[in-house]
Amino acid sequence: MDKAGFAEWLHGLPAICSHSHHLPDKEHGDLSLAKLLGNSYLSWCGVPVPQGNDEARISAWLNAAGVRSYFVWLEKALMALYHINEPLSAHSWARYDQAIIQAHKDNNWHLTLLMKHCCYKAALLDAYWAPGVDNGHPELFKPVFRVNSLFYGYGQDARDHNGGNFQRTRGSQITDIREYIALVRRALGEAKASGCVAFKCALAYDRDLDFAEGDWDRAQKAFGEHPDKEDIRAFQNIVMGAVCEASAALNLPLQIHTGLGLMDRSDALQLRFLISRHPEVSFILMHGGYPWTADIAGLCHNYPNVWADLCWLPLISTAAAERLLDELIDVCNADRLIWGCDAWTGEESYAARLAFLEVLARVLWRRVDSGMMREEQARRFALMVLHDNALMLVSRAAANGLPLVRQPDNQG
Ligand SMILES: [Zn+2]
Repeated sequence: MDKAGFAEWLHGLPAICSHSHHLPDKEHGDLSLAKLLGNSYLSWCGVPVPQGNDEARISAWLNAAGVRSYFVWLEKALMALYHINEPLSAHSWARYDQAIIQAHKDNNWHLTLLMKHCCYKAALLDAYWAPGVDNGHPELFKPVFRVNSLFYGYGQDARDHNGGNFQRTRGSQITDIREYIALVRRALGEAKASGCVAFKCALAYDRDLDFAEGDWDRAQKAFGEHPDKEDIRAFQNIVMGAVCEASAALNLPLQIHTGLGLMDRSDALQLRFLISRHPEVSFILMHGGYPWTADIAGLCHNYPNVWADLCWLPLISTAAAERLLDELIDVCNADRLIWGCDAWTGEESYAARLAFLEVLARVLWRRVDSGMMREEQARRFALMVLHDNALMLVSRAAANGLPLVRQPDNQG
């Protein structure tokens, strides 16, 4: 087998996506090119996505964003999915637009993209707009419970970056820290009982990731009229301790966004004391901690309870994903690496899959070529990262109806 054959073989592998924000059904029916781009990472690039067919605007936008990883992979995905041989340009813009609109007249197209084209057997859904939902497709989406709002329950006016406040959501008005933590524990147990397979912490969009041990007296002060920054930190430290304890007790992994976000001490290394205080928690550190990717490799090397989730990273920077994967193979056991698309639409999920398969093909085949890995090890590794490892993780959540794992021996 040569590299091209290996790359082609990768495209047939099943996947369990570790992290997705796939939008509810009703958001896909009227998908156009502009809406698709607006719900992709290209909307984060600082140049507004063109809304009409104005050639000058489209060309200016393509000149600005057209070589970024986000764009390159989405364009490849759209060309493949809609059988268009011409790159996206002012000239082909309407053709892409029409192809997308036409395809989504089939209301199931967005699910077909995930199940057939992305080969998803399941996807962990972080529906931050309604934490814990499965978009009405329990066979495909396994909900995770986003915990951010728990960290903002100290006052009725506090809000996380999604506008969440746990007490307001629950309609409670607790002002005692111990009573509050009891409610948090109850809510996390309920999340598991309702089918959630993991907890997800996206606090890097709200604050830094340095969590000290809790000071209960100080945390109580956060409920006062004018809590200071340290009172709130103490409160959040106590909440993080409770989340970790629940994660261990309920046997649900804790996904933590690391790297980008506010970039205020959001490097994964900030979590090392939290990780060492909770050896019984499976910490899934997301996005390769980009741009501090070496942190993830170091933490995986030292802590057996740390998992590296490469979700989003190949789309942010394919080059960084390649570097980190190569490094992780050196230092991390193969059963602690997973991947997810981290996307809102089926098209961008497919783009993310193409990006990751390219990273896998480049890194693994280079290792086979240079004698650092045997071909059967490369095959086994790819299947583990795409599917088996995530299956093992979420299977712990029990009775979630996930499909049986396909054995590597059957993979050609
Ligand atoms: Zn995400």
